[in-house]
Amino acid sequence: MNAARGHGRPAVFLDRDGVLNEDSGYVGRPEAVRWLPGVPRALAALRRAGWLLVVVSNQSGIARGYFDHKAVDALHAWMNAQLRPLGAQLDAFYYCPHHPDIGGPCACRKPAPGLLLRAAAELSIALDQSWMIGDKMSDAAAGRAAGCRPILIGTAPAAGDSPPLLHAPDLAAAARLILNGAPLPPVPDL
Ligand SMILES: [Mg+2]
Repeated sequence: MNAARGHGRPAVFLDRDGVLNEDSGYVGRPEAVRWLPGVPRALAALRRAGWLLVVVSNQSGIARGYFDHKAVDALHAWMNAQLRPLGAQLDAFYYCPHHPDIGGPCACRKPAPGLLLRAAAELSIALDQSWMIGDKMSDAAAGRAAGCRPILIGTAPAAGDSPPLLHAPDLAAAARLILNGAPLPPVPDL
């Protein structure tokens, strides 16, 4: 099976900070998580439609010594414990712990596509049938470099987008784009 050739499972890759939760800077503990509106119902709708949900996140707070792998893994387990009762759990979390100023360049910090490529290989994801949702151009660039269709959320379309990018105000709107306008289930916010 070769994910790059379109076999395998379709996935929605999700940036974390600024997409699932507020990006307040180096979110490393559950107490710092503020979920964004509409996130549980967007994730639940995508799950019900058969999309694999994979978080791909730059976490340079590890390189900077603000928190460690264990804390990030614990945070992700906590996030899924919150989401699971709502049918909105995430299937996998991939993150880049590096920062170029500290350890030099790496292949996984977005805009590089390394996290998406690793997930595709490990989870048999068909990249050309998959989406990447993020709130920064580096997310869109990583999605494109991996062969996915990017959606940029939280910002208005820019005249300079080249090639033109799909934009949505938030994750719920991005999910509706992927689901061709289908209504989202009545799942409460966190
Ligand atoms: Mg972000």
